[in-house]
Amino acid sequence: VPELPEVETVANGVHTRIAGETVLDATFSGLAPTFLTPPHILGPALIGARIEGVRRVGKHIVCDLTPPAGEPTQFLVHLGMTGRLLVSQPEVPRPPHTHAALALSSGRELRFIDPRRFGRLALHTAGPFTGPGSEPLTISPDEFARLFRGRKLAIKPALLHQGLLHGVGNIYADESLHLARIRPSTPAGRISRPRLDRLHGALQSVLRQAIALGGSSVSDYVDAEGHRGFFQLQHRVYARTGLPCSTCSTPIRRVVLGGRSTHYCPRCQR
Ligand SMILES: [Zn+2]
Repeated sequence: VPELPEVETVANGVHTRIAGETVLDATFSGLAPTFLTPPHILGPALIGARIEGVRRVGKHIVCDLTPPAGEPTQFLVHLGMTGRLLVSQPEVPRPPHTHAALALSSGRELRFIDPRRFGRLALHTAGPFTGPGSEPLTISPDEFARLFRGRKLAIKPALLHQGLLHGVGNIYADESLHLARIRPSTPAGRISRPRLDRLHGALQSVLRQAIALGGSSVSDYVDAEGHRGFFQLQHRVYARTGLPCSTCSTPIRRVVLGGRSTHYCPRCQR
């Protein structure tokens, strides 16, 4: 499942390749449930629009559009589990499960491919899209601490709660809790301010490092050109059950918290 660093990598890659281009044509599969906005509305909104830029908000990729007439709109792409957004030359055959292909003024195509169809495409017209929660890369330590005040929820599921912080998923929650030396099952509201500050710093540093390495390639994630990321080689606890902790050599333990696999070092994380 692509998380914040992977979505950021894809958004930045697509931005570099297509910002400033105009959408000349659009082809859709129309298959449910991919289209939150139906193709008969999406098509006319996209065709003729200039793509001002592509950026990440939470786990969404936002294409900022200026249509030939009317208000600026935003085309939202959520990659779901297996979604990919690729910039391709038109002569490259469209892969199976291509749900959207936008012909661009450069001659290239922006393609959305999604075999399992957990991804979503939508048009957002009501002002700038901000997503449900706070942005983990820019939230201040004070705002971060305020999110968890009085919460009985364990810190691991609290980090995954998209209404609190958007974009943090299983890998980066586990990794940042290990870096901050906090047990994932600790009730969020019971963590002291100095430890929350440590977690704030750890989360931002883990996310920035992962973005610098092009994200983590687990399952189907690839960037805008189809390359895999390298952050999985840096994982300290994620999917390392039974392997020695990089800090103290204690075997990494796996538990299920809030329905999700959780990996931690029983010695370093208290
Ligand atoms: Zn350890």
